[in-house]
Amino acid sequence: MNIPCPHCQRPITPGATTCPGCGTSLLRDATPGSAEPTCAYHPHRVSLAICDRCGSFACAECLRLNSRHEVVCQRCHALENDTPLPWDEREELGTFTAWWKTLVSVMLHPSVFSTARPHGGAGESLLFAALCTVPSCFMGGLSYMGILAAAPFLLPEEARSTGNIPVWVGPLMFVALMILGPLFSVAYTVIQAGLDHLVLRMGGVTRDYQVTLRANALSQAPWVLGAVPCIGPYVAPVWMMVARVHAYRGLHQTSWGVAVVGCLAVPLLSCCLCGGFYIFLFSMMSGLRGLN
Ligand SMILES: [Zn+2]
Ligand SMILES: [Zn+2]
Ligand SMILES: [Zn+2]
Repeated sequence: MNIPCPHCQRPITPGATTCPGCGTSLLRDATPGSAEPTCAYHPHRVSLAICDRCGSFACAECLRLNSRHEVVCQRCHALENDTPLPWDEREELGTFTAWWKTLVSVMLHPSVFSTARPHGGAGESLLFAALCTVPSCFMGGLSYMGILAAAPFLLPEEARSTGNIPVWVGPLMFVALMILGPLFSVAYTVIQAGLDHLVLRMGGVTRDYQVTLRANALSQAPWVLGAVPCIGPYVAPVWMMVARVHAYRGLHQTSWGVAVVGCLAVPLLSCCLCGGFYIFLFSMMSGLRGLN
């Protein structure tokens, strides 16, 4: 079903508050005492269409297009989008199977987020993110151990006796990486989801921080590729961003635009700030050198 703009009759997108054709605001306040039907959720607003599922009147802001291309009200839409992810069925599947199945579906079918349950415990989300870093920490730790073990044989003979590295350094590095890697990932996820949430809020998202945290954590699935030497570190971040756009869009039920900005604004801004800082440092240094 298409909803025409009351002003220019062009079809509008459910959920849009202005007409893409003529730019007229689709939110109109009801005249007191008039017989016009009003929105079931916003009684002060004139209704724009009727929900195809429950038949209630809804204003432009409360309309959504569902997966069956029906125009529905926000309440019916929210009820539809509640499919649990394998990660939400950990008790039945077992943690490892649930993790693995979620990993595969996030990486290969990121569109699962469009019908996925938006809410999940913060601890559960962070556990998923922490598990995703384990394979690359394991590989990283192993390669450190390998390099340290091989170092005495690679050094020229005269250097071998001096600067010997104790045998326990390799295993210690391995253990440290296996513990600190997931911990660092948890801290990073909490902070990054917080910053992304501020951006999403500015884009009009109304669901709470836990939804952003869940989306951010689940979209870290491609980090398991970090364990693949050479290709992993380059492919994983790009793949993760693609998954994250889907996650923010699906779990927050927002537009592609808001989801993309929510994903990219903070990383890009921090790159610019870091870049700016380096340029500042560099000009300071050359300035100081000029003084001498
Ligand atoms: Zn119009
Ligand atoms: Zn409805
Ligand atoms: Zn409404």
